[in-house]
Amino acid sequence: MSVTLDNALLDSEERRALRASVAALGRRYGREYFTAAVREGRQTDELWREAAKLGYLGVNLPQEYGGGGGGITELSIVLEELGATGCPLLLLVVSPAICGTVIARFGTEAQKERWLPGLADGSVRMAFGITEPDAGSNSHRITTAARRDGGDWLLSGRKVFISGVDVADATLIVGRTEDARTGKLKPCLFVVPRETPGFEFRPIPMELAAPEKQFQLFLDEVRLPADALVGDEDAGLLQLFAGLNPERIMTAAFSLGMGRYALDAAVEYARTRRVWDTPIGAHQAIAHPLAQVRIELELAQLMMRKAAFLYDSGDDMAAGEAANMAKYAAAEAGARAVDQAVHTLGGNGLTSEYGLASLLTASRVGRIAPVSREMVLNFVCHHTLGLPKSY
Ligand SMILES: Cc1cc2nc3c(=O)[nH]c(=O)nc-3n(C[C@H](O)[C@H](O)[C@H](O)COP(=O)(O)OP(=O)(O)OC[C@H]3O[C@@H](n4cnc5c(N)ncnc54)[C@H](O)[C@@H]3O)c2cc1C
Repeated sequence: MSVTLDNALLDSEERRALRASVAALGRRYGREYFTAAVREGRQTDELWREAAKLGYLGVNLPQEYGGGGGGITELSIVLEELGATGCPLLLLVVSPAICGTVIARFGTEAQKERWLPGLADGSVRMAFGITEPDAGSNSHRITTAARRDGGDWLLSGRKVFISGVDVADATLIVGRTEDARTGKLKPCLFVVPRETPGFEFRPIPMELAAPEKQFQLFLDEVRLPADALVGDEDAGLLQLFAGLNPERIMTAAFSLGMGRYALDAAVEYARTRRVWDTPIGAHQAIAHPLAQVRIELELAQLMMRKAAFLYDSGDDMAAGEAANMAKYAAAEAGARAVDQAVHTLGGNGLTSEYGLASLLTASRVGRIAPVSREMVLNFVCHHTLGLPKSY
């Protein structure tokens, strides 16, 4: 019996059908497929292509550009269910969720026609770069700057930890215009195709067992045409948050899927492994923490659904708070699920055969990225509780 978290009361027939069919696809590939891809240093392209063909990758994008016409609710279902079978597609967090959303909401007609059909059918992937080495959690300090040169833009700066740049056709870079270099962040978003001269990327060796790699980016006077700028250069943070809220909701889906996968493995093991007269799952020291994890996953999923609902209803402000809370709750629940699963398997929790130990590092990602748990707590302190800031 697997942790399905399928809820007839909360989900429409359509969403339940989507959940079931994505789960079936994920099961056909399974964890073996995923770990083999990691071992061989290749991408999970077969799964990506099949999910694309079934319309799952662009399920949130507008129908007139080849998408499914759904929202972040549907896309989070796709990622959660794939993750629950051990096959999470990390780039769903950035390509259709952030980049697709930002272009669909703020792009010109030409930009939508150029990028959305490919993002929707999976033939185009887009990475997303905001994090900088000297700014980290403090995005207000980013220094990647764009300067006008005739009708073009020249973009210079450095980014770090950017996922999937090697397989992405382009990266959506968050910079600022040069005259806005001081003072509050007025972010501008630029699409930078991978082969643009002056755009360099180098992999960062990571202790993560994932097909997607992280990269440092070096942008040295990267010349971009005027229409590389997505949205209004004066729109400020609002435009950026249109992409960052889906990112948080999708990171919650990523953590939840992984947590469900780990819990399934632990429950299966606890049900069958005997070292005394009863299976180890009969001992409450083993069973209760698993029950606790189950409750925490379900609670986190409810919060994620609330965030997705608010976002899809167009309430960006309320979605911001809910998305932060959902990301926090899911990351904590996911990390605890993995930790408890590894412990449940005893020595087998650390073997390659059972493949759970590699999730220990992966499950920490949700606590660090895209915004750390401390920064979410800070947000709740200041925004929700009205407490003063320490920084
Ligand atoms: C696997 C992975 C994939 C990623 N993919 C991407 C990507 O595709 N695109 C992208 O742009 N970025 C990506 N990131 C970057 C990620 O968003 C950052 O790592 C994250 O925002 C934290 O920034 P930092 O690593 O610089 O940590 P820092 O900002 O240096 O923080 C270090 C520690 O200090 C704490 N801290 C900092 N400030 C405060 C404060 N005011 N109060 C309390 N505690 C504080 C933090 O919580 C954290 O624990 C990725 C990261 C990882 C690990």
